[in-house]
Amino acid sequence: MDILWKKGLLLSDGISLAIDCSYAEHSIVTHAHTDHVFSSKGAVIGSEETLRLIEKEKSRFARKKPLKIGERTELGSFEISLKNSGHILGSAQVYIDASERIAITSDFKLQDSLITEGAEILQCDALVIETTFGLPEYVFPEREKVYQEFASWANKQLASGHYLILSGYALGKAQELTAFANEYLGASPVVHEEVYKNNQIYEEFGVKLGTYFKLDHNLRESNVLILPPSLCSTHLFQAVEYSIGKKVASAKASGWPYKGCFDKIFPLSDHADFDQLITYVKESGAKQVYTMHGFSREFAQHIRHRFGINTKQLDINSQQKALWESEK
Ligand SMILES: [Zn+2]
Ligand SMILES: [Zn+2]
Repeated sequence: MDILWKKGLLLSDGISLAIDCSYAEHSIVTHAHTDHVFSSKGAVIGSEETLRLIEKEKSRFARKKPLKIGERTELGSFEISLKNSGHILGSAQVYIDASERIAITSDFKLQDSLITEGAEILQCDALVIETTFGLPEYVFPEREKVYQEFASWANKQLASGHYLILSGYALGKAQELTAFANEYLGASPVVHEEVYKNNQIYEEFGVKLGTYFKLDHNLRESNVLILPPSLCSTHLFQAVEYSIGKKVASAKASGWPYKGCFDKIFPLSDHADFDQLITYVKESGAKQVYTMHGFSREFAQHIRHRFGINTKQLDINSQQKALWESEK
């Protein structure tokens, strides 16, 4: 089995299979974040949830082959199954049984969140692991602890009569923030349209987020507003303050500790931190580990020295990408 990087991940053993890119006739899409979605004239395997989330934008695949998480399908000599990756709705790890057992984590986390169950660790001979937070300084506290601290800060702001703006990626993080506002703040937030659409799809698949309103000239309908980070700026916060006559308190949910225009950052990431990456490598039993995304070179070096495992950094030419882009 060859595991290669050609503008994306490619597996080859009689047939070729591309992961999150369209390099081969057959491909798999692991989840619906934009940096993993591609266009294809061939057949694309993905979970039902992922295909539904992608279709919301526009149909990019000539042929869709839905595969339920946990079910198997055959493709030439490959037996393929998708396994929960604990990242966002419908996100999948790829498990391939061929001449050897291969696990591809794609974006994953082992922690449970309010709305997702953590990834299962797959037993394999070769492991392809995403290493967004592949440096020892990136270790996140337990999620429940972060929820508690976040809630204590946010409830204090609300008690002082402030207006809360919470921010996180429109797909994944914003749904967790919607559930968080309901459960921990007793608030039904107003959410940006993009967030609203994704919230509705989560609910189509049975994920309960609580109640929320679509943002539409109705800032006063709640004291909590959820926005994607790309829309947030000091200017916008000032405009909201001016329009509703309340002071804005702002927080972003992210694994990267950069505050930007926000008052607070809470480390709720949808990616594995360094400790989870190490746990996965150890418990998978992999003899060969391939790294990609973020600190792929550093993490490959670390586990080679620490465990004596064969490692290879796959995405050597795509390291220049802005790191926080790769958190999606
Ligand atoms: Zn990603
Ligand atoms: Zn992602």
